[in-house]
Amino acid sequence: MVKANLHFLDLKDSYLFSTVREKTEAYMKAHPEKEVLKLGVGDVTLPLVPAVIDALEKASAEMGDIKTFRGYPPEGGYAFLKKAIIENDYAERGVKIDDDELFVSDGAKCDTGNIVDIFGPDNTVLVADPVYPVYVDTNIMSGRKIKYVNGTAENGFCPEPPDFPADMIYICSPNNPTGAAMDAKKLGRWVAYAKKHGAVILFDSAYEAYINDPSLPHSIYEIEGAKDCAIEFRSFSKTAGFTGVRCGYSVVPKTLKAENGVSLNALWARRHATKYNGTPYIVQRAAEAVYSDEGKKQIKANIDYYMSNAAVIRKTLSDLGLTVFGGENAPYIWFRCPFGMTSWEFFDYLLEKVQVAGTPGSGFGAMGEGYFRLTSFGSKEITEKALERISSLSFR
Ligand code: PLP
Repeated sequence: MVKANLHFLDLKDSYLFSTVREKTEAYMKAHPEKEVLKLGVGDVTLPLVPAVIDALEKASAEMGDIKTFRGYPPEGGYAFLKKAIIENDYAERGVKIDDDELFVSDGAKCDTGNIVDIFGPDNTVLVADPVYPVYVDTNIMSGRKIKYVNGTAENGFCPEPPDFPADMIYICSPNNPTGAAMDAKKLGRWVAYAKKHGAVILFDSAYEAYINDPSLPHSIYEIEGAKDCAIEFRSFSKTAGFTGVRCGYSVVPKTLKAENGVSLNALWARRHATKYNGTPYIVQRAAEAVYSDEGKKQIKANIDYYMSNAAVIRKTLSDLGLTVFGGENAPYIWFRCPFGMTSWEFFDYLLEKVQVAGTPGSGFGAMGEGYFRLTSFGSKEITEKALERISSLSFR
């Protein structure tokens, strides 16, 4: 009889977003006269920028002409996109990345999930709680032990390396869900920890485009020595509204070695070429357009739009006396629920009192209990209206 991968049975059901949806829909059904404002989802709302649409149209026309039609793309990405990424995301920040260290993909969720394939089952995984659930679930699926470091108000949701060893370390900065961003000193301590233990840092910088503070690193490779101990993941999803278009990339340096000198770059290249057949040509042309002068200006305007929502949310909540994190270098605002409420109690309270739906922090791990996440990805109008309603409440 066929045997299932029983590690899947160790997964906890993720009720977070489905419960948020069910509760919100039930409330709307019971109160059809009331308008519910949603600031919970992590998806973007602004459409693709004109430079990206132009590139998509042009590339589609090429695909419809026998002279310029293209079939399977190279698995690791077209040279034109790799060049744009290497020049703009790395060389400009003083980081040297070679063409064969970069792997274009269909997004950071797949990459952060698939990367576990190249690591042995006995590695100990280290995760900061609260956490983007993909890191935890994909390691449970492949049977690895997970240890946690705690994000707390005291450490600004940027935990320090622990006093026990680990092999695979996930760091997400700027962070989903807490909005915290690590500075170079803090990242330097993680790089030192990884080197001491022969560990690999899996650095998810899907939100790097939201960094405002010029002193903060955008790439882990801005930290000395990181090319010997880190893999980096990036995405066009939040940077350029590609959540429905799908494009991202991973960087696996050739200097990165596992036990017995095994090259992780070679393993990832093999894995990518075996299980992935390349990001569509039209999508890669669209991603390339993000780096054009026009593209850069246009996506910056969208990011500024979301970040002005973030500023409104942050200020309003702070003025109400709440303890607020994030929203300065990330599109997420994370705050302590008032009156000692649990995350779900506060969810119900906000929905019932002012018809605003957010995301309970407890859905991101035990350390998220008692916290709440709002996103800046809504429209300006809805964000301002929601915050006006929240302002009518008293939390002191
Ligand atoms: N990494 C983090 C931390 C995220 O929050 C998300 C999306 O919400 C992703 C990765 C997924 O990105 P992509 O759309 O490229 O799969």
